[in-house]
This record gives sequence, structure tokens and C-alpha cells, in this order.
Amino acid sequence: MSGWTILCDFDGTISVEDVIDSLLDRFGRPGWEVLERDWRAGLIGSRECMAGQVALLEMTRAELDAHLAELWIDHAFPGFVAKTRELGVPVRVVSDGLDYAIHRILGRYGLDDLPLAANHLAPATPPKQWRLTSPFQAEGCRSGTCKCACAEQARRDGAKTLLIGDGASDFCAADRVDFVFAKHRLIEHCRAAGIPYMPITGFEDALDLLPRLLDGSLAQHARYHEAATA
Ligand SMILES: [Mg+2]
Ligand SMILES: [Zn+2]
Repeated sequence: MSGWTILCDFDGTISVEDVIDSLLDRFGRPGWEVLERDWRAGLIGSRECMAGQVALLEMTRAELDAHLAELWIDHAFPGFVAKTRELGVPVRVVSDGLDYAIHRILGRYGLDDLPLAANHLAPATPPKQWRLTSPFQAEGCRSGTCKCACAEQARRDGAKTLLIGDGASDFCAADRVDFVFAKHRLIEHCRAAGIPYMPITGFEDALDLLPRLLDGSLAQHARYHEAATA
């Protein structure tokens, strides 16, 4: 046991593309753009936004599966997971995306056994309709999957927690973990909020940084990095 546990975002972090965005582009009936705008404006939470958007998808399961078969993950993610297993660091995928899509995509790499917290995509009636439920939502939180609750749970379990993520759905969890490997918009959030982090471009970087996180040398380096970029 390393004393660390890893929470890892899916869309834009493990996967190259955002799954729901790509599905809406291809199978979304009109109306999803309004929900997107309301969510960006802070009028609705991600749970309400995505439940509405998923209800506007019109696709068969075969169409969905064919689409998911074309979505790719960071080429270094399987090697990263293999390394965490070698080092005894548990990884949990925490996603405000779709459980079915994540299982399908990770399954191609033999990684669908990773523990997962995500929204649940289920077929609805009439045919070609779908619906979204959020088994990992939390009281008082407007997200589908409450990543802050996942971070709190990891902390209660006694491990130090590393978050790997890229975007807005990771902001609240970033405030509650011990260290962040940050991509894209999450970099600026961590910098502005004074959260200990290292910027990464992908899992190749994460793989390089992991041993230094575990031996404690990274926390020190991150403080210098912070001072240098302040
Ligand atoms: Mg993301
Ligand atoms: Zn939350």
C-alpha cells in the first residue's frame, strides 16, 4: 500500500473527446444547445442539463455502440493503470459522464474493471430514446456525479488523494484532495485557488510524476513551481 488513492476524471482526461458532446453533435434533436447555454450561464446544474440532453438523443443501441467504437483514449492511460497496480495505488474513475460509454470504451483496453462513479444511461421507450439517472448525486449539489462527495469519501477512507482532471466538473473535488494533476481549465483553477498541483498534458506526464508523488518529493517541487509562476 502506498497510502495514496487516485480519483480520475474520464471525459477530456482519459478520453480524448467529450462523449456526451460528440453524441449530441451526431444524434441530438434540437433543443440541447439551449440546455448547454443555460448550464454555462449557471442557470441549471450539470445533472439537469445532461438529463435534458440525453432525453433529446435519438439513436439505436447499434448506432451508439458504433459511435463509441470510434472514440479514443489517451494512449498512455493503460500503461499508467498498469503502473498504479504495480505500486498498489487504487484508481477510481469519477465522471459526470455516461457509465455505459465509459465501460464500452475502457472495455476495448481490458480496463472496464476499474471502479466507476458516473451517471447511468438507460434505454427508454419509445425505441431510440434514452434516459439518464444519477446514482452518485448528492444532496445540495447540482452535479450528476458529485465529485466532491467522492473526494470526501476517499479522505474518510484514510488515504491521501490525487485527483487527475481537466475541467469544470473537477473544480469542487480539487478543493478537497491532497494533490492534483491538472489539464486544461483545471490548471488555472488550481493556480488561482492555491491548490497543490502539477500541470500535465496527458498520462505520459502522469506516469513520469507518479513515483515522485508517492515518495513525497513532488509536493515540495510543486511549491517551488507555485512560487515561480505566482
Ligand atoms: Mg473532464
Ligand atoms: Zn458536488
